[in-house]
Amino acid sequence: MKNYVRKAVAAAVAVFSLVSFAACGARSSSRTEHRITIGIKFDQPGVGFKKGGTYTGFDVSVARYIANYMGYEDYEIVWKEAPSKQREAMLQNNDVDMILASYSITDDRKKTVDFGGPYFVAGQDLLVRSDNTTIKGPQDLDGKRLCSVTGSTSAVVIKERYSSKVQLMEQPGYAECATALFSDIVDAVTTDNIILAGLAANSRGRLKLVSAPFTQEYYGVGIHKGNTGLASQINAAINDMVSTGAWEQAIKDNTRGTGFTPDSKYNPPKAFEGEGK
Ligand code: GLU
Repeated sequence: MKNYVRKAVAAAVAVFSLVSFAACGARSSSRTEHRITIGIKFDQPGVGFKKGGTYTGFDVSVARYIANYMGYEDYEIVWKEAPSKQREAMLQNNDVDMILASYSITDDRKKTVDFGGPYFVAGQDLLVRSDNTTIKGPQDLDGKRLCSVTGSTSAVVIKERYSSKVQLMEQPGYAECATALFSDIVDAVTTDNIILAGLAANSRGRLKLVSAPFTQEYYGVGIHKGNTGLASQINAAINDMVSTGAWEQAIKDNTRGTGFTPDSKYNPPKAFEGEGK
């Protein structure tokens, strides 16, 4: 009898430890899988920028805030580069959970992806060399060489409105456009003012923002089509970020030294207002 009890106890202990080992294993494996993958730009200082293993910029600040709000710790965020041209495909292929990459909400893009937000309103503008005194807006681009990025709304606007007069050169990223401007291969670069302000601030005084915006770009959080649950979590996070003052602080931190201030007529936007314009 005694022997029987001992055996039963030993068996119970074995079963218990097996169960708790399995539970523990399951928990730790689910912990490693508790990650969120976010697409950002890597070459836009002040907006989305990678230096070594550090990610900075306003898009990164908003993305972190949203991820934290959804219960992810900073170390659980996986950052991926999302160049302008690849954003829709990255979402469609489930390469990322969301994209915050100076990504304008447009009807055309809404055919293939959905958006949370908006969380910022920028305006398309021009960047020129500091000694340039003739280019004050898109009306002065006749016969000029202009750089923009493939897959951006900025390139589309130029093609649709100014193509007969402007020589457009498309590049994969804005860093390449800035280099083309430094080297006198183009006369100007066009994209959103917040991006150009960051490039100018990093040019050691060689480039300047024209500061005459000619569009409104509503920055959205790109998500997989039909993920309405995620969209409402994102919008709650953005509205919280604005009401706690964290949005204002993030703008200040990320535009410090650039001289750039967001247009207060449109900023901060309320998430899900202005969408679709
Ligand atoms: N906001 C514009 C766009 O989504 C231009 C900036 C960019 O290329 O990311 O196309």
